[in-house]
Amino acid sequence: MNITILGSTGSIGTSTLDVVARHSGKFKIVALTANCQADLLFRQCVQFKPRFAVMLDKNAAAQLRQRVREAGLAIEVLSGAAALEQVSVLPETDTVMAAIVGAAGLQPTLAAARAGKKILLANKETLVMAGNVFMDAVRASGSVLLPIDSEHNAIFQALPRGYDGNLARSGVRRILLTASGGPFRNMPLSELQHVTPEQACAHPNWVMGRKISVDSASMMNKGLEVIEAHWLFNASADDIQVVVHPQSVIHSLVEYVDGSVLAQLGNPDMRIPIAYGLAWPERIDSGVAPLDLFKVATMDFTAPDFVRFPCLALAYQALRAAGTAPAILNAANEVAVAAFLDKQIPFLSIPRVIEAVLDTLPVGTIGSLDDVLAADADARRAAQQQIKQS
Ligand code: NAD
Ligand code: MG
Repeated sequence: MNITILGSTGSIGTSTLDVVARHSGKFKIVALTANCQADLLFRQCVQFKPRFAVMLDKNAAAQLRQRVREAGLAIEVLSGAAALEQVSVLPETDTVMAAIVGAAGLQPTLAAARAGKKILLANKETLVMAGNVFMDAVRASGSVLLPIDSEHNAIFQALPRGYDGNLARSGVRRILLTASGGPFRNMPLSELQHVTPEQACAHPNWVMGRKISVDSASMMNKGLEVIEAHWLFNASADDIQVVVHPQSVIHSLVEYVDGSVLAQLGNPDMRIPIAYGLAWPERIDSGVAPLDLFKVATMDFTAPDFVRFPCLALAYQALRAAGTAPAILNAANEVAVAAFLDKQIPFLSIPRVIEAVLDTLPVGTIGSLDDVLAADADARRAAQQQIKQS
């Protein structure tokens, strides 16, 4: 299997390379891409010898090109957003791991779908922003789409093999999407105003990039995942129940009409869904230790708290509003999270900014990628405006 990894220096990207390195005869890396981390991308180039390495940033690319030349490696170093798309559609690439964070992942992932590549989808923002455009492209090209987000990977595993996009016909009553509740699940509400980016990024169970860590702390991550599940499994907002499960051992469940509930369990380590996606429909070693149920001992479940986590309610609201609303939600969230990480706004302003943007902008229909990009740009402007005024 020949793989392009979009976002190879991130949390998902490095976990993917960890699994790949355990099965070097099985997988070949064709292209690696990153934003601006030239040092790490260079080390990955030395180890995996891809044909292409892409850096979004021009200066970082120049630096990498020089080091690659000095090391005598036959690797073509490219830069810019167009190059991300270029390495997503290469004839020699059959599989694309979509692991760029945020809206930046949309266009290369969509290009891979249009080219009929097998897509291992970690970048949930692609589906949140452009669900119908992306799913139409997947269907039209016949590309295989495997969810890497742990919850969706669990649901994929618990649905019938060859699930055809009709929950009722498969005897499914509900999808139960588990959530850890993040680091602020039990913090007194009065303290939430003062939490720092460092506290928000210290997730109790998962090690992740900073943006998704903040999303987990606000539970926007779960909101984005509800929208992601809607597109992946053709499930309505009413079909998806969020269940808070702080141990993160059950990664999600599917409830059938006969009362059966199928779950996928495992240690909270993304190498499990990544290995599943890489080997599907077979199974390979992921490097993750076996689940020790005696050590887990107890599993808790509670309903989500929409007062503590208004972002989750906003995401359900955007899904129900449909059209451009989820793209607006996503863009406003990205701007607000960046401002929080930059210490410009407090944690509790994240949902306030998003809500104000959703209230300001009209919801349009999505006929093409351009409609998505226009909604994204409008929402970013409106969110910046909100932040300036606050
Ligand atoms: P990360 O921040 O650790 O890594 C992001 C990667 O994308 C890096 O390689 C970075 O160089 C690259 N990148 C960032 N901005 C870019 C840009 N503008 N253009 C091109 N490349 C850019 O993020 P992550 O935690 O690995 O998450 C990646 C995606 O996977 C996100 O969409 C996230 O929601 C999803 N996801 C992550 C996890 C997890 O455990 N980390 C779990 C489920 C889903
Ligand atoms: Mg997840």
